[in-house]
Amino acid sequence: MDARYLNDEELQKELSRCLQCAAKPCLKACPVKCSPYDFIKAAKSKDWKTAASHISEHNPLGEICGLVCPDKFCVQYCVRAQVDKAIAIPAVQASIMKKNREINQNPSVQNIKANGKKVAVIGFGPAGMGAASKLLANGFSVTVFEKEKIFGGALNLIPSYRLPREVVQYECQKFMQNPLFEVRFSTMITDYGKLLQEGFAAVIATVGEQKKRELKIKGAEFAIDYNDYLANREKYRTQGAVAVIGGGSTAVDCAVCASLSGASAVEMFVRRGAENMRITAEEKQILMKYGIKVSNFTRPAEIIKNNDEFTLLTLKTCFDKDGNLQDVNDCPNHNGEWKYIIKALGNVRDKEPENKQGIYYAGDYVNGSSTVVEAIASGKKVAEEIINKYAD
Ligand code: SF4
Repeated sequence: MDARYLNDEELQKELSRCLQCAAKPCLKACPVKCSPYDFIKAAKSKDWKTAASHISEHNPLGEICGLVCPDKFCVQYCVRAQVDKAIAIPAVQASIMKKNREINQNPSVQNIKANGKKVAVIGFGPAGMGAASKLLANGFSVTVFEKEKIFGGALNLIPSYRLPREVVQYECQKFMQNPLFEVRFSTMITDYGKLLQEGFAAVIATVGEQKKRELKIKGAEFAIDYNDYLANREKYRTQGAVAVIGGGSTAVDCAVCASLSGASAVEMFVRRGAENMRITAEEKQILMKYGIKVSNFTRPAEIIKNNDEFTLLTLKTCFDKDGNLQDVNDCPNHNGEWKYIIKALGNVRDKEPENKQGIYYAGDYVNGSSTVVEAIASGKKVAEEIINKYAD
């Protein structure tokens, strides 16, 4: 499966379909206020550089968002849908940014005068990048403390069939070239107040949700956590059958990865109904395309290890009159033998935020699980607060 780029013919077709709506509803629906109206207008005259700068001005991860943004933002509000079909705005955005990347392999950094103030950013996923981009553009020095050896945070868990790794590298490289930017890899920071004492004007924690959501059933220890699975896909390559517990976007990523890695069968077990799954129409189509079976209103009850395989016992569920999920009965069904059972239930915050002057939080840590573009918007919003507070 290829990432979501359009070829030249497809791109021209999408550009020509744009109605150039004066009210710009597509812009209003974008969490980072990027304007499809404007970048499409520039792209129509093949001015890829201007089109790309309309995107980059608002979004430091323009190509990445083009590749992974769901259809619930700009696409959902595109007026062209009233005529025939919404413009494939994210794919157009990704394709414009790809063209610009290919023309401009070494992006230059705008020379911004330093304002003498420095901000620490803890973690460097989308929220950290959103915050850093805004601060750097306003003359703040930014030091990133990243506990891993690489950039990207949650971006590194997005399968490469959707997000090629060279795109992540390219977007990160733009930060590295900024003289006001510094990064310290393999550095875990727990005492944010100490950074304030060391002279940082502010600290922005964008550490995501660190604690794995537990599967509270007998044999839960035999399930592979999705973080581990997505970060080590080669290790779990198999021709056997794979079960995925969970019904969100991450569960879809795990299921598709298993299918692409050669699994003989992949099945998702979801407590809720199909209409309650938090996935996009595009993701539903992907599940169908890869023949991934989805068992709704089914929850795991126990995992039993049998030599090299695992047996999954499940219970049927339903909503009661108050809208709460209940087990239909207490007699588990034997639901197949699996080479791997992946738990894709998401993460939760491991500790409460500190309420201390100068310490800010952004991204999934405060907002819960969100899309890349929402995390960037959250980082930018916090950066704006700091800019308003500290800039001269
Ligand atoms: S809403 Fe759709 S058709 Fe209208 S300007 Fe935006 S992208 Fe073009």
